[in-house]
Amino acid sequence: MINTLPRIQMAHLPTAIEFAHRLTEHLNGPRIYIKRDDQTGLALGGNKTRKLEFLTADALAHGARTLITAGALQSNHCRQTAAAAARNGLACILVLAGQPPDTASGNLLLDGLLGAKITWCSRETREQTLQDTFDRASADGLYPYLIPYGGSNAIGAAGYAMAIGELMEQGIESNAVVPDRIVFASSSGGTQAGLVAGGQIFGYTGKILGISVDENAQDLKERVADLASATGELLGVQCPFVPADILVNDDYLGGGYGVMGGLEIESIRLFASLEGILLDPVYTGRAAAGMIDLVRKKVIAPDETVLFWHTGGAPALFADAYRGEF
Ligand SMILES: *Cc1c(COP(=O)(O)O)cnc(C)c1O
Repeated sequence: MINTLPRIQMAHLPTAIEFAHRLTEHLNGPRIYIKRDDQTGLALGGNKTRKLEFLTADALAHGARTLITAGALQSNHCRQTAAAAARNGLACILVLAGQPPDTASGNLLLDGLLGAKITWCSRETREQTLQDTFDRASADGLYPYLIPYGGSNAIGAAGYAMAIGELMEQGIESNAVVPDRIVFASSSGGTQAGLVAGGQIFGYTGKILGISVDENAQDLKERVADLASATGELLGVQCPFVPADILVNDDYLGGGYGVMGGLEIESIRLFASLEGILLDPVYTGRAAAGMIDLVRKKVIAPDETVLFWHTGGAPALFADAYRGEF
């Protein structure tokens, strides 16, 4: 038995699992399935919605009236947080790192539409600005609740522990075929930590491979191990993890966060043209690039069954920053 945490139902669950038969054929490799968490249903969806079901519930349990979080200019996490706030009658303040553009596009456009207030800062001052914003909101009687970057604390990660329970129950094509390996984009680490904790809780024994989006493997493994341990503890199960338990590949960092290279563009085109599925320039494009390269190198063996966990992000395709790239 695991602890039941307060949760507000917002996501459309279970998300579908689809067999990517044309991509599988094209790569002449493992059977590739796609878990459609890009279709979680909250304001164009994505992986943050599962986390926000728990984080928003915790905010309301604490009497909050304002959600505050931070991210990059095209943050999917911020867009979904703004939507969760709107839906629950809460205000939302987003601290975004960057220069306010003349016209908003992609996720930023949606942040405004969803009613979020935006505070701009530089990358260096983001932590301080976030704290100042929180303190001012407290002083102003806005009852703020701070959601960490990417919604990645134990409460948020619990959403992905439960997602493994969903996967095990769902089975692929309801035949109870369980993938040998799950591949996805890993950044602030909450998704991976939740999957790892959930793997232990629900008895998933396959590989859980995070493709790092912006950080070296050792640092990300450490953060994910700590967070997975904390998530297990929150759910009431003893499962301490160490970095060596965590699978991270950081071979695909390329030009850094949000910078698309040739392999990402090819992967985004392949998913679109073979499967009619939209990836994103920052996260899933990079994860798919990694997966496809590992399949071509046979690091992912041709006889495996692979589940590509699609974490969303397509609104960034419409960001001015990527205009003309596709
Ligand atoms: C936030 C995000 C991720 C990374 O998830 P983390 O839990 O931060 O590691 C992956 N894909 C998309 C589209 C995201 O928005």
